[in-house]
Amino acid sequence: MKLLDGKICAESLVADISKRVAGYVESGLRKPHMTVILVGEHAPSETYVKSKIKSCENAGFDSALLRFPESITESELLAAIAEINADPVTDGLIVQLPVPKHIKPQNIINAIDPEKDIDGFHPTNFGRMTLGQKAFRPATAYGICKLLQYYEIPVKGKHCVVIGRSNIVGKPISIMLSNDFDIGNATVTLAHIETPRALLLDETRRADIIVVAVGIPGFVTEDMVKDGVVMIDVGINRLENGKLVGDVDFENVSRKCSWITPVPGGVGKMTVAALMINTLMAYQNNFDLA
Ligand code: NAD
Repeated sequence: MKLLDGKICAESLVADISKRVAGYVESGLRKPHMTVILVGEHAPSETYVKSKIKSCENAGFDSALLRFPESITESELLAAIAEINADPVTDGLIVQLPVPKHIKPQNIINAIDPEKDIDGFHPTNFGRMTLGQKAFRPATAYGICKLLQYYEIPVKGKHCVVIGRSNIVGKPISIMLSNDFDIGNATVTLAHIETPRALLLDETRRADIIVVAVGIPGFVTEDMVKDGVVMIDVGINRLENGKLVGDVDFENVSRKCSWITPVPGGVGKMTVAALMINTLMAYQNNFDLA
């Protein structure tokens, strides 16, 4: 078993980005700029936002964190987004999810200018990505593809099973792996909560690559996979003892894997790296750079 180390891969991608940014700055351009909106107090979101801001520093980007109280209304938040959409200095905008219950996340996602939508959640980007056009690709799914590329894991012609169909992970990664992309051209099965257990087992036991994003600790067990499988664990679950674990029973499943992502240190790091790639693309689009 070998580790698909998201930390090493992310650091290498961000180092490449920082070199390109240094070149742009040397030629007289401003730095790329990411703005992050954080609403309310949510411990995991604080951690994610901190790591995004830190990664901006490492990439040579400017960043701004705008905090709003839990009590902000949807229309106030939409007004703040409209202001950033109009701000020529912000290349990429993220509204950290989840937002408070009285705000509809879809309304927030739809309000972000698609040209600044570095999370790749806006219907315009999701549609472009699905059609195989140039787009900001949803960051976690894009990060998984970059990780597979970095470790030269063959994807073309492989049988992939994605478990979980969220709009932010399961659905986009199933589309990206099956599309005619550089990291793609696989045959993909998308399983979800209504997939009968026997069918799920049939599929996972023949899968070459499994991507699991269900949010249930230890969901993928040893008996569900074949020898040599490539296992991508997207889950981030905090146990009562404070330990952070994925959706895979790592100790037992890893013995059968050719490659596996650790949690933490796997897909989470790659999500942030993909955001940096998307921000650089937004910046390059703004300045008509190749
Ligand atoms: P979600 O929480 O919105 O939905 C869970 C999905 O799992 C649903 O599509 C559901 O159909 C499926 N599911 C639930 N039980 C199932 C079962 N028994 N069999 C098959 N499918 C089942 O999904 P999400 O937002 O993608 O989050 C999933 C996990 O990934 C969470 O732990 C989350 O914290 C984590 N996550 C990690 C990153 C990262 O960067 N590493 C990014 C996003 C989400």
